[in-house]
Amino acid sequence: MHRALYPGTFDPITLGHINIVQKAVEFFDEVILAVADYTGKDPHLNLEQRLRLCRESTLDIPNLKVVSFTGLAVDFAKKMQCNTMIRGLRAVSDFEYELSLAITNRKLKPEIETVFLVPSLKYMYLSSTMVRQLADLKAPLDDFVPQPVLEYYRKNGLS
Ligand code: ADP
Repeated sequence: MHRALYPGTFDPITLGHINIVQKAVEFFDEVILAVADYTGKDPHLNLEQRLRLCRESTLDIPNLKVVSFTGLAVDFAKKMQCNTMIRGLRAVSDFEYELSLAITNRKLKPEIETVFLVPSLKYMYLSSTMVRQLADLKAPLDDFVPQPVLEYYRKNGLS
């Protein structure tokens, strides 16, 4: 069974992340979307909110599990019996960071391979950072985030 881990912060989950997940489930028997507790930054949404929005936004995607994790993504991949980690690759700006992450992860756990998936063109420049800025400025988010995230921001008066 080929199982892949898709780790990230998902602060919040966007249509770009969902686009990657939809592609990933075509290639693997099971995909685990793993929401990181440690973000290395001050998250906009807490872990529970990020996890809930990821779950609610992916209900219709088959062979996908949504969980949270603490610690290193490679350790969690091993624990979940995933020999592949998926990362999304957008514009050139992602490349250097994603490459150094993949090389570091390979050093930590050589048995886990990183696979990069490229999103559809319309999501190429979409990031959670952009969504957070738009939400702060109360811009419409309809083209960028799934319905549960849209509702969350509407309810909380953020967009
Ligand atoms: P991190 O904080 O670890 O970068 P993110 O939640 O921002 O995690 O993203 C997780 C993964 O999804 C990363 O590989 C990121 O490049 C990718 N990703 C984010 N947005 C998009 C998008 N619009 N299209 C494709 N991949 C994306």
